[in-house]
Amino acid sequence: MSDVLNRDPGCLFCKITAGEIPSSKVYEDELCYAFYDIDPQAPTHFLVIPKEHIPSVAGVTAGNSAVVGHIFEVIAQVTRELGLDSYRVVSNIGEQAGQSVPHLHFHVLAGRDMTWPPG
Ligand code: AMP
Ligand code: ZN
Repeated sequence: MSDVLNRDPGCLFCKITAGEIPSSKVYEDELCYAFYDIDPQAPTHFLVIPKEHIPSVAGVTAGNSAVVGHIFEVIAQVTRELGLDSYRVVSNIGEQAGQSVPHLHFHVLAGRDMTWPPG
């Protein structure tokens, strides 16, 4: 299965899913990987990423969008298992919005009061 995945060998998050860079795993299946953020912005802060290299939400197409629905199923399941009943899901697209790693990821943040709109 992993042989057919589109990976970018120079990508930080592709290296994490390949096990080349260590991470603190929250969840894994054949399509996606979840791990705690190295610089947490809330008491609970983890990232959920597709194993396939997709640069951002802007790279989601009819051909690869199934993994996005799957990731949201995983977010619902993992947050339930962690006992989180209120949380925020964020994806930054592009530099101006604050994206620093060009591999699609959804931040899941919980455990503190949040403001709106986000800064
Ligand atoms: P963004 O800035 O939205 O692209 O999110 C990228 C996130 O990846 C940031 O919150 C970083 O703290 C996080 N991050 C960067 N490197 C690592 C790493 N090696 N392990 C876990 N999280 C990381
Ligand atoms: Zn990647």
